[in-house]
Amino acid sequence: MEALLKHMVDITRQRDHSLLDSSVVSALHELVGAEQVRVHELFRFRDETFIRPRVWIRDGKVATAEDNAAGENSGEPVSKLPVLVECIRERAASAVEVDAAGRHTLWLPVWLNDKVNTCLQVTASGPFPGETLHMIEGILSVYRNFQNILDYSERDSLTGLLNRKTFDEKFSRMLSSAQPESPQDQPERRHSPNGQIGHWLAVVDIDHFKRVNDQFGHLYGDEVLILVANLLRSSFRAQDRVFRFGGEEFVVLLRATCLDDARKIFERFRRNVEQHVFPQVGRVTVSVGFASISNESPVVILGHADQALYYAKATGRNRVCFYDELVQRGELRSEVSNDTVEFF
Ligand code: GH3
Ligand code: MG
Ligand code: MG
Repeated sequence: MEALLKHMVDITRQRDHSLLDSSVVSALHELVGAEQVRVHELFRFRDETFIRPRVWIRDGKVATAEDNAAGENSGEPVSKLPVLVECIRERAASAVEVDAAGRHTLWLPVWLNDKVNTCLQVTASGPFPGETLHMIEGILSVYRNFQNILDYSERDSLTGLLNRKTFDEKFSRMLSSAQPESPQDQPERRHSPNGQIGHWLAVVDIDHFKRVNDQFGHLYGDEVLILVANLLRSSFRAQDRVFRFGGEEFVVLLRATCLDDARKIFERFRRNVEQHVFPQVGRVTVSVGFASISNESPVVILGHADQALYYAKATGRNRVCFYDELVQRGELRSEVSNDTVEFF
C-alpha cells in the first residue's frame, strides 16, 4: 500500500509526457513485478497503423526513446500484433497474450477521445492474479487522466502536435539529455565532414496554403493540416519532436544524427507530402529550411532555419534548404544584426 501511494504521488506530480510515461513504467515494473513494461505510441502512415516503443525497461531501469537517440526506430505495423488489433477493434480495455514459454503479456490501449495513440504492454512470467489486474487498471486510469490534462496544455487541439508554448522547454531538454556523440564513436563516419553527429532544427511551411483555403474552404484546409501533421509524425523518429508553430507552419527538432542523414530524413518527409493524395484537394507540397543546432539561442537558430525556408520559397518551393550550406555558397548572407533575409 505504501509503495503504491509513493508511485501514485510520483505519477501525479509529473507535468510532462515523457516523465509521466517513465513514472508509469517504473510503477508497473515495481508494483506488478513485471519482466517488461513498455509504453508504445501508435501512429498512422500510408493507411496503416504502426507501433513503436517510447519508454521501456532495460537492465531493470527505465529507458526512453529520447535517451536512445542512436537507434533508428521507425516502428512496425500493428497488424503484426493480432491480439492488440482485435483488442482495439473491439474497444476492449485490455487483452492477454500467452507465448510458448508461458509468459503472459497484457495489452492496454489508452483510449482518449475515441482514439488510441498510446498503448501499455506489461509482460510477466506467468498469469496476472486478479488483484494485480485491478491495480494495473487503477494505474492506467490515473495515467489516462493525466495524459488528458497534459495534452490539453501541451498540444495543439487541431493536429495533436506539440504547441509552440512547449518549444523552449523541449529544446533545452533535447540539448541537455543528448550531447552529440563524438565522431570517434562513429568510425565509419569519421572522415566525412557531413558525418558529424549533431542536432538539427527545421521549419516546415505548406506551399500556397492560402490557395487551398480559397479554393476548397477552411474545412478542407484544416483537413490538410491534420494530414500533414500525420505525415510529420510518421516521417520522424520517436526521439525527434514535432511542433505546430502556428497556422501552416511546423518546427521539427531532429536529434543526434549526421548531416547526410538529416538531409535524407527531411527530404523523405518532403517527398511523403508530395506523393500523398489529399482528399478533394489533391496534391500539396511543403518547403523546409533547416539549420544545425549550435550553442546559439533557440531564437537565432530558428532565424537561421527561417532564412533557409524563405530561400526555399523564393527559389521554387517544394524543396529542402540547409542554412549553413547557403551561407557557405554565398547564397545567403549571415547577418545576425537584423532578421531580414538578403538574397544575393
Ligand atoms: P507560401 O507558399 O508562401 O507559404 O504561401 P501560403 O499561401 O502558404 O502563405 P500565407 O502565409 O500567405 O498563407 C497562410 C494561410 O494559412 C493563411 C491562413 O488563412 C491559413 N491558415 C492559418 N491557420 C489556419 C488554420 O488553422 N486553418 C486553416 N484552414 N487555414 C489556416
Ligand atoms: Mg505557407
Ligand atoms: Mg506560413
